[in-house]
Amino acid sequence: MTDPDKSPFFDVRMRGFRERATVDAVLALLDARTGAISAEAVSLFEAAGRVLAEPVVSAVDVPGFARSAMDGFAVRAEDTAAARSLAVVGESLPARPFVGEVSPGHAVRITTGAPIPNGADTVLMAEFAQPEPAGCVSARVPVTAGQHIARIGEDVTKGREVLPAGRRLRPQDVGLLASVGVATVRVVRRPRVAILVTGNELLPPGAMPEGFKIVDSNSPMLATLAHRDGADVLSVRYVRDDYDAVRDAIRDAATDADVVLVSGGTSVGTEDHAPRAVAELGELAVHGVALRPAAPLGIGFLVSRSPALPLSPSPLLFLLPGNPASCLCAYDLFAGRVVRRLGGRLWELPYRKETLTLAERIASAVGRVDYVRVKREGSGVVPVASGGGSNLSSTVTADGFVLVPADRDTLASGEIVDVWLYDA
Ligand code: AMP
Ligand code: MG
Repeated sequence: MTDPDKSPFFDVRMRGFRERATVDAVLALLDARTGAISAEAVSLFEAAGRVLAEPVVSAVDVPGFARSAMDGFAVRAEDTAAARSLAVVGESLPARPFVGEVSPGHAVRITTGAPIPNGADTVLMAEFAQPEPAGCVSARVPVTAGQHIARIGEDVTKGREVLPAGRRLRPQDVGLLASVGVATVRVVRRPRVAILVTGNELLPPGAMPEGFKIVDSNSPMLATLAHRDGADVLSVRYVRDDYDAVRDAIRDAATDADVVLVSGGTSVGTEDHAPRAVAELGELAVHGVALRPAAPLGIGFLVSRSPALPLSPSPLLFLLPGNPASCLCAYDLFAGRVVRRLGGRLWELPYRKETLTLAERIASAVGRVDYVRVKREGSGVVPVASGGGSNLSSTVTADGFVLVPADRDTLASGEIVDVWLYDA
C-alpha cells in the first residue's frame, strides 16, 4: 500500500485532472507489475484452451513396443525375396501378441497396432500376400526389413519435452498428453474478475430503458471481453453512487478477485467516488490518462484479503469510464492485457492488425493518444463519427480502430495506418 503522505490523494472532482499519465507510462507500469498467477491441476478433458504452467516431459516411449502399421503378415524380410511359400503359424492382435518366434519359413498373421513377434523384422501387407495351398502365403513383392513397423519411441521418445510451459493447449495436445500417460496437467489458473457497475441511473441488462433510466451496457460487454481473455467472471454487482457503498463494494470484490473492473464513477463529477475509495483501500497508481476517449481511466492496487489465494499478487483494479465506448477502449488498451497476462496469455491486443490507407484525415492533438473507430471503405478506412465515448453504436458500425500516436496532431488522408480489426 502506498504511504498516504508520499502519495497525497488529489480529489479531481469538479476540478479536473491536474496531469494525465501517458499511455506508454501506464503500459510500462502494468507490464512491470503483472505476471502470471498461480497454477492449478486440471484433467485432460478440461485442459484444452488452458495455458500450461510448466513443461511436460514424457516418462515413456510411444509406442513402447514395436507394432505393426499395417494388416498383413509378420515375416522375415529374407523370406520375401524369392516368393517362398511361408507357413502361417499364428496370429498377433492388438494387446494379444503371438507367443513364440517367427522362424525362417514362417509367417504370423498380424493386424495394425499389434506387437511384432520375435523373429519377424518386417510386415508383408495383406494386399501383397499371395494365398498358397495348405494355409500358406507368399510375398508377391519383396519387402525390406523394418517396413510397416512403428519403432519403439517413433512417436514420442522417453525424456522428450512434449509441450512447453506457456502453451495454449490445443485438442491434439491433450490427446498427446494422454498418450504419454499424463492424467492431469498444471495450467495457469484463470484470472478471477469481479465487475462493479456504478450509476444510480442504471437498469440491469434485460430491462427496457425508462424515463431517466438507461440500461447498463458495460457489464455484458466487459464480461464478454474478460471471458475472451481467459477470465472467470465471478460476479456483476450494482453499486449506488455513494462513497461508503462504492468503497465497501470494492473492498468485498477484492477478497476473491484478481482483477476488479469498476464501471463508471471515475471522472470529475460529484458522484465519482471510486478514485478516493481506491486511495483509501490501497494504492491509486494512475488516475487520468492522456487518451481519448478514456481519459478518466484509473488503476489501483488493492490488498488481497483472501486466505484462499495466498500466492496471488495484490488484486488490480481498473476504474473504467462509464461511457460505453470509453469503457471498451480502456478495457482493451489496458485491462485486457492484464487479464491475459495474469492467465499466462499474450500481452498484445487480440486483434488482427492490417495496414490500410486512411481515406479521410483524422484530427487529434499532440500529447494524447486517440482511439479512433474506423470503417472499411473501398480498399481503405474512414473514421466513424463517434460522439466521444458515449455512443456505443460507433464501435458497432466500426470495423476496427486506429491509435493516433501521442506525437501526432493529425493523420493525413492517404496515409498508411495500422488498423486493429475487431473481428480478428
Ligand atoms: P460516469 O463514468 O459514471 O460519469 O458515466 C459517464 C456516462 O456514461 C454517463 O452518461 C452515464 O450515464 C453513462 N454510463 C455509466 N455507466 C454506464 C453503463 N454501465 N452502461 C451504459 N452507460 C453508462
Ligand atoms: Mg456515473
